[in-house]
Amino acid sequence: MSASTARQCRIAIIGTGSAGLAAHAAARRHTDSLLLIEGGEYGTTCARSGCMPSKLLIAAADARHQVETAAAFGIRTGPSTVDGAAVMHRVRSLRDRFVGGVEKIVAGLPEQQRMRGHARFIAPYRLQVGDVEVEAERIVIATGSTPFVLPPFDTLGERLLTSDSVFDMVDLPASVAVIGGGVIGLELGQALHRLGVRVRLFERGDRLGPRGDAHVEKIATELLAASLPSVLGVVPELGDVDDEGVRLDWLGTDGERGSERFDRVLVATGRRPNVSGLDLASSGLALDARGVPLFDRTTLRCGDSRVFIAGDVNAERPLLHEATAEGRIAGANAALYPEFRAHRRSTALAIAFTDPQFATIGVQPDDPAFAALVAGEVSFEDQGRSRVIDRNAGIGRLYGDPADGKLRGAQLIGPQAEHLAHLLAWVIERELTVNEVLDLPFYHPVVEEGLRTALKDLRRAMHRGAGPRRDCLECGPGT
Ligand SMILES: Cc1cc2nc3c(=O)[nH]c(=O)nc-3n(C[C@H](O)[C@H](O)[C@H](O)COP(=O)(O)OP(=O)(O)OC[C@H]3O[C@@H](n4cnc5c(N)ncnc54)[C@H](O)[C@@H]3O)c2cc1C
Repeated sequence: MSASTARQCRIAIIGTGSAGLAAHAAARRHTDSLLLIEGGEYGTTCARSGCMPSKLLIAAADARHQVETAAAFGIRTGPSTVDGAAVMHRVRSLRDRFVGGVEKIVAGLPEQQRMRGHARFIAPYRLQVGDVEVEAERIVIATGSTPFVLPPFDTLGERLLTSDSVFDMVDLPASVAVIGGGVIGLELGQALHRLGVRVRLFERGDRLGPRGDAHVEKIATELLAASLPSVLGVVPELGDVDDEGVRLDWLGTDGERGSERFDRVLVATGRRPNVSGLDLASSGLALDARGVPLFDRTTLRCGDSRVFIAGDVNAERPLLHEATAEGRIAGANAALYPEFRAHRRSTALAIAFTDPQFATIGVQPDDPAFAALVAGEVSFEDQGRSRVIDRNAGIGRLYGDPADGKLRGAQLIGPQAEHLAHLLAWVIERELTVNEVLDLPFYHPVVEEGLRTALKDLRRAMHRGAGPRRDCLECGPGT
């Protein structure tokens, strides 16, 4: 290697997203021989096209919805109008502010530890970045994920929207078809609908919301499908695409044919780990069927190599707080190698910012450990505080282990689920029993009292093997 085209370092980190930045911060405690490589834009997916701009759009939609539903409280507002350009201006300017904050952090890192360019493996522990060959003793892969656009929608050109492009719009379109009823499709579809865009969401499955618990699935699907025009069990066919827009045709599960024209098609058919550009075949790592290196979730080490993998690219828990936690583990372990540590992973927690919000916490029905658990339940339909604020819809199901009395998991769809989910995640993380949680204070009247109802129901189910009770025990005025 000639000096002008070669660099050596102890740790190369590929990707300057949330996972890569966390890996850099953790590794930096042990060494300065670091190289943080970025092939795209600085700013992270979270700030640029993920968590933050999506919540900005949803905040605008919530504001409109509050106005539109104020009549339930006797407040007359008259018809509201949406200034689409002003909505998107706020989304983009605050998004840019969040991105700017990350860019400032990156700019503050030592220059010799930063490198621009797309990295790919040319041999184990050797990367090509532009015309520079990087030799690293250890490598952290933190390359994130990219929206997967289901064919034939990838042919739509300017009519196509994904989460990468939707927040760049300068105005709201008149109509949008949303393909995919996962969290991103639901969050964005519902927000656009509430902002006055004509929206229809298509989901090829027959359910919306959390999966695996039939009680929650039924109610979540009903509530979410009622919140925006949805067609379930269908992938629409692509019709004419012309100056008038995009025509979609479909045959519903009821045998009814449908056809509708849209300005834009927002495709939210999942995300794929960014592995294809890495030439992992040259890395010497064993790969799974998707081409993702096999790795240990407690150490994030790939096989018995000196390569670690963190964030969305490993596709294990593609969420922001997991990406930063994994980045910290991978960065520290890369630095400490061969003395690296296995880390206990925190309680799983995922929240969708739909209305009603839904959340999954801890052990879920697709986990083998779920078979030993029993459930307790609350309906938010008659929950006191939920009714006061006119948000009385939804269900919470809590799962506990009768063998040790511990709370282990939950699914929620209902009011303030983002906050309830945190309380549940925290007590599950602390391994509290249902009785210990019930000994904690519950104020009145609050939505959290609904959790107490479900906990009491769960305690009964644990002790007696009784079926869940559906009515709310915390509905009265302080009884
Ligand atoms: C619309 C949307 C909403 C979301 N909402 C939430 C939410 O509310 N809550 C939540 O917890 N999570 C949410 N997420 C998920 C969250 O944004 C991601 O889990 C998180 O941003 C992943 O971080 P990361 O570091 O793994 O990837 P990224 O931030 O994408 O970083 C990867 C970096 O690697 C770079 N890169 C890729 N390949 C190479 C290469 N070969 N060489 C050099 N550089 C490369 C990329 O350019 C990128 O900068 C949302 C995601 C989306 C899309």
